[in-house]
Amino acid sequence: MIKNVGIIGSGTMGAGIAQVAATAGCSVKLYDTKTEALEKAKADLEKIMDRLVEKGKIDSEEKKRIQNNIKYVSSLKELKDSDLTIEAIVENLEVKKNVFSTLEKFVSDDCIIASNTSSLSIASIASSLEKPERCIGIHFFNPAPLMKLVEVIPAIQTSEEILKISVETIKNWGKTVAVAKDTPGFIVNRVARPFYGEALRIYEEGIASFEEIDSAMKEIGNFRMGPFELMDFIGNDVNYIVTETVFEAFYYDPRYKPSFTQKRFSEAGYLGRKSGKGYYDYS
Ligand code: NAD
Repeated sequence: MIKNVGIIGSGTMGAGIAQVAATAGCSVKLYDTKTEALEKAKADLEKIMDRLVEKGKIDSEEKKRIQNNIKYVSSLKELKDSDLTIEAIVENLEVKKNVFSTLEKFVSDDCIIASNTSSLSIASIASSLEKPERCIGIHFFNPAPLMKLVEVIPAIQTSEEILKISVETIKNWGKTVAVAKDTPGFIVNRVARPFYGEALRIYEEGIASFEEIDSAMKEIGNFRMGPFELMDFIGNDVNYIVTETVFEAFYYDPRYKPSFTQKRFSEAGYLGRKSGKGYYDYS
């Protein structure tokens, strides 16, 4: 039974996953190295909760209960009582491995250590642990509280028991689970690469603007969001790194080739909604 949950990284995904676990009744510790990120996560949750109360989806008691279930912490050690930890920090293998090997020193032998990585090898992340059989990928989609699907990805080292507990826990949190193999981009991010990649190439070839491509995909293709709106929503930095990782991991298969446009946007800090500017202006 998973009761205490530690979340590492309080950005877009970490904050959302914390809300999901807290709503399901878990006691959550949300950790980030940046105080500003913790403050933002707390302020954002307050706004989200207020909106849910206004809409009549929860009452003020429930709001208080969910908020009280989350503690914001600035030391990894505070996660020591966790039954499950989910990491949602920068998409960088070495950084994740460092955090995992440090975390393992603090938590109990039974704690499940999961990553929300979009594209990195779970086997490689697991190799940073003394007990790699407790490592698993638990991949939420953005926004985590609204998106039903969660991919659960066992590495070749992951034990059957850890997979079973992880799947049960995520289902208990009200999500639909797809168990995916530990391959680059898993299922959804692999299928999604050409959606972004071809849209960027159409723009780069001067065929259509961001707005025209988005509008065509929504009006003709019936997609809820166009590729540029979606990349701005995900974050251009995060989306670019995922494309780069999938491209390299498939031995530079041109189907997954990243785009210079997205790279430049990411380098310029035009990250999308979270920075106020991306393919569109949000200021
Ligand atoms: P983000 O940039 O919004 O947040 C990352 C947070 O991690 C930041 O607050 C940062 O301060 C913190 N951080 C960085 N290094 C840290 C460390 N060593 N210890 C503790 N905190 C640290 O990123 P995000 O969009 O939430 O993505 C996080 C992870 O989730 C990535 O692996 C990404 O691939 C994956 N993911 C992202 C999305 C998405 O749509 N954004 C969807 C699914 C999965």
